[in-house]
Amino acid sequence: MKASPAEQKELLRLQALDIRLQQVEHQTKALPQHAELKELAVTADKTRMTLGTRSGAVEDIRTELRRIESDVDVVEKRIARDSDRVKHTSSVKDVQALETELAALRKRLLALEEIEIAVMERLEEAEAAVAVVEAERDAIAARVAEAEQARDLNLADLNRQLGELRRDRAAIAGSITDDLAALYEKRFVSGRGNAAALLRARTCSGCTMTLTGSDLDAVRSSPADEVLFCPDCGAILVRTEESGI
Ligand SMILES: [Zn+2]
Repeated sequence: MKASPAEQKELLRLQALDIRLQQVEHQTKALPQHAELKELAVTADKTRMTLGTRSGAVEDIRTELRRIESDVDVVEKRIARDSDRVKHTSSVKDVQALETELAALRKRLLALEEIEIAVMERLEEAEAAVAVVEAERDAIAARVAEAEQARDLNLADLNRQLGELRRDRAAIAGSITDDLAALYEKRFVSGRGNAAALLRARTCSGCTMTLTGSDLDAVRSSPADEVLFCPDCGAILVRTEESGI
């Protein structure tokens, strides 16, 4: 293939841009915030589940407490009613029966109030346990927001770099022939990024092998607009005044 020495030289700039493009593209995928956010999502899920369990426990205790309060209410009303009846009855027998019932009711009320206090203490503990998880949840949310902000800032910067690199690349790719561009592209893929190499002091900068003997003679005898390849790594060998031939 024929290509002017200037076009061949452009391949080196094209390759430098392509390598930089690959690096920046890799950076966008390998941002530390991606891994951090993934981890935070797992922690947030666990926290959400713990919060659900603990909130459920609080609800259960509140139901229990309401039931006891209602029991207390029933007993208190019964005590009030019986006390009132004691005042208004003239039957000794009735008074005795009512007093016996009142004594039992007061005992029952005391027992219920003790249970009520114990349940209230448990409720307090359960509510405190919920508050702990809620604080954890809020802390995680704050870290997520922070990581997202950092990620977005990084991505904006990297995308700006990618835009500039792609624009520069398009300008160079547009300045060389389609055939040379196609040859370069193919070689860039098969050579894993080593498509074009500067021949400097008879040495291929792609694979660092020095040309000798018939390989060197072949390069020396080739016209400047002939596209040559490194006999060792296959890169398009770009000759300049630094080539030493
Ligand atoms: Zn080489």
